[in-house]
Amino acid sequence: MGVVTRARRGARPGPVQEEPMPELFIDGQWTAAAEGRKREIRCPADGTLVATVDEGGARDADAAVAAARAAFDRGPWPGTPAAERGRLLLRVAELLERDKDAFARAESLDTGKRLVESAYDMDDIANCFRYFGNLVAAGDAGRVVDTGLADVDSRIVYEPVGVCALITPWNYPLLQTAWKVAPALGAGNTFVLKPSELTPHTAVLLMRLLAEAGLPDGVANLVLGAGADVGAPLTEDPRVDLVSFTGGLATGRRIMAAAAPTVKKVALELGGKNPNIVFADAAFETAVDYALMAVFLHSGQVCSAGARLLVQDELHDRFVDELVARAGRIKLGGPFDEDARSGPLISAAHRDKVEAYVAEGIAEGAVLRCGGARPDDPALADGFYYPPTVLDECATSMSVVQEESFGPVLTVERFRDEDDAVRLANDTVYGLAGAVWTQDGGRAHRVASRLRAGTVWINDFHPYVPQAEWGGMKQSGFGRELGPAGLAEYQEAKHIWRNVAATPQRWFE
Ligand code: NDP
Repeated sequence: MGVVTRARRGARPGPVQEEPMPELFIDGQWTAAAEGRKREIRCPADGTLVATVDEGGARDADAAVAAARAAFDRGPWPGTPAAERGRLLLRVAELLERDKDAFARAESLDTGKRLVESAYDMDDIANCFRYFGNLVAAGDAGRVVDTGLADVDSRIVYEPVGVCALITPWNYPLLQTAWKVAPALGAGNTFVLKPSELTPHTAVLLMRLLAEAGLPDGVANLVLGAGADVGAPLTEDPRVDLVSFTGGLATGRRIMAAAAPTVKKVALELGGKNPNIVFADAAFETAVDYALMAVFLHSGQVCSAGARLLVQDELHDRFVDELVARAGRIKLGGPFDEDARSGPLISAAHRDKVEAYVAEGIAEGAVLRCGGARPDDPALADGFYYPPTVLDECATSMSVVQEESFGPVLTVERFRDEDDAVRLANDTVYGLAGAVWTQDGGRAHRVASRLRAGTVWINDFHPYVPQAEWGGMKQSGFGRELGPAGLAEYQEAKHIWRNVAATPQRWFE
């Protein structure tokens, strides 16, 4: 194993890579990758070098799982009183608030996201730790079961699952990490975290805060590296009890298959192709405004993006004209450009993929209403920019409608009536989120209840709170994050039956 330094408890994160410290965190120690590999992290907004980080592999994953296993089997954390575990999460929330600026800056440099959006994310992340801290600290003594037997004391208790592999993507790197780390720790588990290889920095900063908050060695482990080199071994390792993954559908399928031989618990959040349904009676200006935000927020790199606009026939022309006019005025720019309202895509390869979806949609008959070509502004030439793009007159059968382009691409379909809207909305393999816009309360509730999606907004788009469960139906995955079910995901229910007056039964006499 490479250079090893003790974790500097109390070290405050400043700018990314402010000090030459290795970035893998295993058994309470900062360590370089076993094979000495490094990876350059470049800002997608302009290609500048953010940092060179340690790039782990299978040997590092193996060491991290060994540490997490030992900390679970022999360490104090799983048996630490729930109130104390909750207090630690609350302390992490405080530390996140203290270091919010450094975290937001690191997130923006890795993702290219506007600084103001990263700052919002950091508030949400602190709230997530606070929510689970309070939930856990409130204590849950389990459940007494009424067996109807006077001599039996029967209880359900909740125990941690064990060693968790937490695998996260690049679009909301720390937010999606927090949704897993906070409940995993709150429930008393140990974990190995593998963030996206493209966006590692806030995970490194978080490990520093967890150590500063007093988490015992080996409970939280971080291995940076590629999915094939680090993620895959974690999903196959028999010492790992649970895999929680957020990312693409294809990777989710691979993870489920890899986890099958050792029958791990698996939780998958695999994105969506989310319908935003606008009826003719919707509040026009508000619905247009939210339709833009629904799809173009973070350049469409959002699992719940409202990438499918379903608009009622009689409203279609007026609605799309206004939306296109406003989409064309969205200014692109880097994270620190205060006038910019939208940033770059994460990588050149991802932009190529988005472009290919748009080309395919047009070839299949979609009408390009705006965007659809890389910007020619020389100031944006070094970043992976792609403009807000609207494809009108789409059909549900098109690949750009069915598959996640995960870019700033809105497809527009028309519908006749309520039944037609619901039929079209449900006609993809995904079921993560959706929205309905109407001033008819009865219709809003009918449509909301008929949508096969884990979250439905009525006259709104994108809000979530840590108290409410988040997750998908159909091929958007299974398992829930946030809310009480988000904690339960990291717990096993155990039934303890105590016979207080056992006497011989003489069954075999
Ligand atoms: P991936 O699903 O490829 O990656 C997500 C995470 O899984 C990353 O940490 C990745 O590592 C890791 N990973 C990759 N392969 C494996 C494997 N075999 N075993 C274990 N872990 C693995 O997503 P991408 O980042 O490539 O994005 C692809 C598509 O996924 C997007 O275009 C979008 O459609 C969707 N997506 C959905 C998200 C959501 O919120 N639901 C978020 C991000 C993407 P590595 O560091 O090598 O990438």
